[in-house]
Parts: sequence; structure tokens; C-alpha cells
Amino acid sequence: MNLTMKIIAALILGAVVGLILNLAAPGVFTVLNTYLFVPIGQIFLSLISMLVVPLVFFSIVVGAAGLGDPQKLGRIGLKTVSYFIVTTCIAIIIGLALAAVVEPGSAGNFDTEGAEFSAEEAPPVSETLMNIIPKNPINAMAEGNMLQLIVFAVFIGLALTALGDKTKGILNLVEQGNEIMMYLVGLVMKFAPYGTFGLIATAIGSQGWSAIVAMGSYMLVVLAALFIHAVLTYGGTIAFLAKKSPLWFFKNFAPAMGVAFSTSSSNATLPVSMETAQKRLKVPEPISSFVQPLGATINMDGTAIMQGVATMFIAQAYGIELTMGELATVVLTAVLASIGTAGVPGVGLIMLAMVLGSVGLPVAGIGLIIGIDRLLDMTRTAVNITGDAACAVYVAETEKKNNIKRQRAEV
Ligand code: ASP
Repeated sequence: MNLTMKIIAALILGAVVGLILNLAAPGVFTVLNTYLFVPIGQIFLSLISMLVVPLVFFSIVVGAAGLGDPQKLGRIGLKTVSYFIVTTCIAIIIGLALAAVVEPGSAGNFDTEGAEFSAEEAPPVSETLMNIIPKNPINAMAEGNMLQLIVFAVFIGLALTALGDKTKGILNLVEQGNEIMMYLVGLVMKFAPYGTFGLIATAIGSQGWSAIVAMGSYMLVVLAALFIHAVLTYGGTIAFLAKKSPLWFFKNFAPAMGVAFSTSSSNATLPVSMETAQKRLKVPEPISSFVQPLGATINMDGTAIMQGVATMFIAQAYGIELTMGELATVVLTAVLASIGTAGVPGVGLIMLAMVLGSVGLPVAGIGLIIGIDRLLDMTRTAVNITGDAACAVYVAETEKKNNIKRQRAEV
């Protein structure tokens, strides 16, 4: 069995075991969960999380140095950020539109009186953008602040290019550091089937299944919107912008999606998604190492979809009509919120509080969906990282064409 099959088998097995124990033997689940599922899952999570900061740092330094001129880096940056913003807008519009048509919030009797949610403060987007230059790079690393880490690493990469032979030793060192990290990712991935099994068994086994029945239509709308977005937007990107087969893309990227699904964290999945994009989708390292860490922080299409559906759902459950202007505000706030917050589990709900607040919808409405959010978090995280990989393939293919054109012009 190859790794993809093993991970998929582990996901299914974990879900089945978690579900059966949850429904038939909750006591056994508690014991197994404490002594088996949680430890295996956490060990795996820690192993991949351990690699995130050094991998991102080394690979971006190597990438920025490899791309050579700052102009090329600027062009790739612009292409990447534009792609992220456009696809996030598409994602939230799909979410809003599908929820407007299906009306999951009008279907049942939701306890809007009893709903409660106290929102954690999300940092204002302006603050995140202003803080993008780290005052203290060591602090940025210690906190795992991805945007600051990227900026610092790009600076080092550019300096290494400018200094050339003088700093060859450091460049070699960083390249070797990168090799070490990539080797370790491969090693840790051998443990992935066990880790994903543990994580999924815990996630599925700890659900309150009655809540899922009550929230079925909301969940189905979110899942359908995620599916539509993955097929149309990413499939379309791969087929029309990158001129490759969408099937090839999804098949090869599946192991990373499986890990994202089990960890619910774009950040923690980074080492796996970068390795998968480089080895299986053949994205050149400089592009993968720049696009994917950036995407893990600022590009969360799956999360945007949830926000679109959830906003509509909450408006419907409370019987509030949203005007076109308010819908536009929702789109804008969701895009900004996704730029400002990191890809870690559950952060989507904090962003949702910002979105609801922007159009005066009751933030307490999040209380209605919180019970089933963990399951949707898994699915949307898989979509989030797929968007980053689709962008990496698109940038890689268009850059390849650029290079060929330039070479022809030079001949
Ligand atoms: N868990 C998601 C991620 O890490 C963010 C979210 O939607 O809560 O990408």
C-alpha cells in the first residue's frame, strides 16, 4: 500500500472506530481516547509542528536566493496575492449564494434565545499588516508568526544573492538545513497513518451526534460549497491556468489533504503540503516555499466558505434580511479577516465573529453552529491548503512559460 492509501485507510478506520465507540461504548472511548488516540495524535501533531518554523525559514531563504532578482520575487508575490484574494472572494460568494438558495437557517427551529458565544478578539487587519516586519526575528520564530518569518527570510535570501561568493558558506549551510528538514518531513510522514488515525478517532469520537442531526442542512450546505469550490475553482485553475489535469492534481495532493483533514491546521500541515507539492506536483522549491507558507496564513478559501454559509444561516435563523450592501461588506470583511489571522484550528469562528459584527448580526448566533464546527473545520482546512497548492502549481506553470519565452527572445 502506498502512503496515500494508508492515510485514507487510517482516516476511514479512525472515523469508524471513533463513531462506533461514541455511540455504543462511550466509557471505552474515554479510556482509549486518553491512553491511545490522543497520545498517538498529539505525537504526530508535535512531530510535524516541530518542523514548521525551521522548514519555512530555510526553504524561503533558499527560495528567495534561488529566485535571484527582487523583480521576479515581486512578480511572483503579486501573482500569488492576487490569486489568493480573487479565490477567497469566489469562495465566500459560493457560500453566500448556496446558503441563500437552500436556506438552511429557515428550515428548523433554532434556539436563538439560548445561543451564546463570547468572541475572542481578533487582531485588526491593519495591525497584522503593520506588524509584518518583525521587530525581533527570534521572537517571530518563537511565536511561529508566519508572515513575519516570511519577511525576515526573504530579506536574508536577498542579501545572500547580493553578497554572492562572500556568503556562500551561509547559503550552503541553509541549503543543507533545508535538506535536513525535508528528510525529516519524509521520516515523520511514515508515522502519518497512525497519527491521522489517532486524531480522527478523537475528533469523531468526541462529537455530540445529536447536534449533527439538528444542524444537518447547514453542514450539508457548507460541504457542498466546499466541494463546488474545490472542483470548479481549483479544478479550473489547474485545467485552464496551469494547463494540467485536475485529476492528476487532486490525486497527487491527496496525502496532504488527509493530514490537513486530521490536524485541522493549515500551519501544522505546512511541512507535508510543501513536500507533497514539490515531490508529487513537481512545483519548484523556490515557488512552493514562498507560495505555500504565505497561503497558510492569508489564503483560507474553505474558511471563507464557512463564513458565507454561516452568515446567511445566522441571518435566516434570526429572521434578519441582509441588503446587497451588507453582503458586499461580508465579502470584504471575510477577505480581510482571512488575511489577518493564522491557519490554526478553530480560528474560523473568531473570523466569523468579525464578519457578523461588521453587518450587525448577533455574534451569539455562533453558539448555534459551534457544536459541529470541529467536523467542518477538518474539511475546510483540507480545502484551505488545496487552494495554496493550486496557486503554487499555477505560478510554477506560468513562470515556466515566462522563462521559456525569455530564453527564446534571448536566442
Ligand atoms: N483550521 C483552519 C486552518 O487552519 C482555519 C479555520 O477555518 O478555523 O486553515
